[in-house]
Amino acid sequence: AQQQLVMSEKLAAIGELTAGVAHEVNNPVAVIQGNLDVMKSVLGPAAEPVQREIGLIHAQIDRIRLIVTKLLQFARPGDFAGYTEAVDIAPVVHDCLVLTAHNLDRNDVEVVTHLEATAPVEINRGELQQVLINLIVNAAQAMPDGGTLTLAAHDWSDADGTPAGVELVVRDTGVGIASEDLAAIFDPFFTTKKDSGTGLGLSVTYTIVERYGGRITVASQPGEGTEFHLRLRRQAEFQGGPEAPGFMRRWKG
Ligand code: ADP
Repeated sequence: AQQQLVMSEKLAAIGELTAGVAHEVNNPVAVIQGNLDVMKSVLGPAAEPVQREIGLIHAQIDRIRLIVTKLLQFARPGDFAGYTEAVDIAPVVHDCLVLTAHNLDRNDVEVVTHLEATAPVEINRGELQQVLINLIVNAAQAMPDGGTLTLAAHDWSDADGTPAGVELVVRDTGVGIASEDLAAIFDPFFTTKKDSGTGLGLSVTYTIVERYGGRITVASQPGEGTEFHLRLRRQAEFQGGPEAPGFMRRWKG
């Protein structure tokens, strides 16, 4: 719990700082991109080598924009986390599988779902989607040569047997996570993906899950695969949101 608290404070501090910076970066980047488009059309297709260079610059600009978008999602979740509602897990999982189908197909990932009829959880639907998409895309990337992605959901209870919410398990048979990396994967900017990673996916995921009173844990065996356990609060149990600034419940449980 101590570690969790330190993590939340760290994320909040980084969030405040980055929101401003990310926002300021967006404008000049948009201007550069606009000017580049003008250059491209003025030069025409004849200027082949220069066009190639422009393409490379474009790719790097796209990368900056991706990082900025993720930073803003991470730093200003309030922008789209306006309200919570009672959300059924199974249809959200199916939506997310549709949205990530190309990532999964590209890597020949077989998908298995065990989705029991579970109690609704109280969460922001869009943010839950974002959480699942992050986990599914990471799983797909961890299985470049194919494998199995398993998504399972069941109700879970507190130690005294009181129904508490839904546990969602996201398991892959991918490369796994080295034990020395395990403690760092939820840290902002921690990535092992060099140029293709931002290291923000799991810190966004962690922040969202925490915000709704949930917990996320990970277990992994290098070479065998990785398993994320997500515990989300059912509607009646949810307590975390209303104290947060700007927080609004759509209806009460
Ligand atoms: P990114 O995907 O941009 O690197 P994340 O925060 O989503 O950022 O993930 C951080 C790191 O955690 C990844 O670079 C990877 O090393 C590790 N990781 C996350 N999910 C998995 C997974 N399912 N299997 C193996 N490694 C993973």
